[in-house]
Amino acid sequence: MKPDTKRTWAEILPGNLIHNMKLIRAALPAGTKFLGVVKADAYGHGAAAVSRALEENGADYLAVAGLDEAIELRRTGVGLPILVLGHTPPEYVPELIENRLTQTVTNRAKAEEYSAAARACGGTLRIHIKLDTGMCRLGFLCAGERFAQGVDNVAGACRCPNLDPEGIYTHFSMSDEPGPEAEGFTRAQLRLFLDMLDALEGRGIRFRLRHCANSGAVVNYPEAALDMVRPGLLLYGYGGGEKIPNLLPAMRLMTRVSTIKHFDAGSRVSYGGTWTAPARTRMGVLPIGYADGLLRSLSGRAAFYVAGGFAPQRGRICMDMCMADLSALPAAEVGSPVEIFGGHAPLPLLAELAGTIPYELMCSVSKRVPRVYL
Ligand SMILES: *Cc1c(COP(=O)(O)O)cnc(C)c1O
Repeated sequence: MKPDTKRTWAEILPGNLIHNMKLIRAALPAGTKFLGVVKADAYGHGAAAVSRALEENGADYLAVAGLDEAIELRRTGVGLPILVLGHTPPEYVPELIENRLTQTVTNRAKAEEYSAAARACGGTLRIHIKLDTGMCRLGFLCAGERFAQGVDNVAGACRCPNLDPEGIYTHFSMSDEPGPEAEGFTRAQLRLFLDMLDALEGRGIRFRLRHCANSGAVVNYPEAALDMVRPGLLLYGYGGGEKIPNLLPAMRLMTRVSTIKHFDAGSRVSYGGTWTAPARTRMGVLPIGYADGLLRSLSGRAAFYVAGGFAPQRGRICMDMCMADLSALPAAEVGSPVEIFGGHAPLPLLAELAGTIPYELMCSVSKRVPRVYL
C-alpha cells in the first residue's frame, strides 16, 4: 500500500484529461485554440499537474480565478499564457507583468488604473476585455441602450497606454441548460458579443483572441467557438451529454474500509442516532467525512462502490468518518478500497443526491486528501 493511499485519497488520471481534451478539440472547427480552465486547483485535481499535462499536450492558454493561483503555476514552471479571470487590485500590476500574466479588464476605470500602474513600472500589461452580455457579473455593460456607451468604453480601455488588448471575451449563464428559453438567452448573448466585435472593428479595434465558449457552449453552440474555447467541466470528464460522449472522469475519490463491526438490530448509528439497524448489520467504518469533502448533506443518501457492489451509507456523515452497510457485500474486508465517485459510482448522481452540481463536489475534495497521479 502506498503511504498516500492508507486512508482517503483522490486518484487523478492525467491520461483521461488528455483524452478529454482531444475529444473536445475534435468537436470544434480545426484551428480553434484551447484554453484549459484550471481555477480552484483545477477543480480539485491539482492545478500544477493538470497545467503541466495540458501544456505538454498542446493546450494554448490557461485560466485561473486570481493572481495567487497564477503565480503558483509560474512557480512550478508552467510556461503557457495564463488569463486571470477575476479582479486584481492595480497595485499588483508589477506582479502581473513580471509573471507574464494576462489580466481581465471589466470596466473603463479599471483599464485606466491598470494603465497608470503599468506606466509607472515601465511595462506593458496584456489584457483581455470582458463584456457582460447577460451574466450580470463582471464585465463592460453593453446590452440594450448601453450598447453605444459600451463600445465607447471598450474602445477607450483599449487605447490606454501600456496595455496590450490581446483578447476579448464574455461568459454564458445558461449555455448548459436545455429548453427554448435558455437557448434564446444564450443566442442573444452570442449575438450581442458578435455585434460588439463588429462595432469595435468599425472603430479600428480588432482582437487576436475572441472567446466565449464554456463547456456548455462547446457542447451546445459550437458556432460560438470563435478563436478559442474555454472549457473546464468537460476537461474533467463531465457535461458532454450526447454530443461529446465518451469523456472520462479525471478523478476518482477513494477511501478504505478501516474497521468492520456487527451491530445488533435496534443499534442507532452515528450522531443523532438517525439510522436504526433493522436487523443485525455488518457495518464498515470509512475514514472519510465532511472535512475531506464528503458533504454532510449526503448523509443517508449515497452508496459507495466496494468489492463489486454498492454499500449504502448509514447515519450522519461525521467530520472524519462515516459508516457504510456491508451486509450484502461479504467480500468487502478491512482494507478494501471504496470508491466514493469517479468510476463505478457516478459523480453526477452523487451531486444530485446532495442537491448540488459535480463542480461543487470536485472542488470540495479538501486539502488533506492526497492527490495520487496515475
Ligand atoms: C469557470 C469558467 C469557465 C469554465 O466553465 P465550465 O462550465 O467549467 O466550462 C469559463 N469561463 C469563465 C469566465 C469561467 O469563470
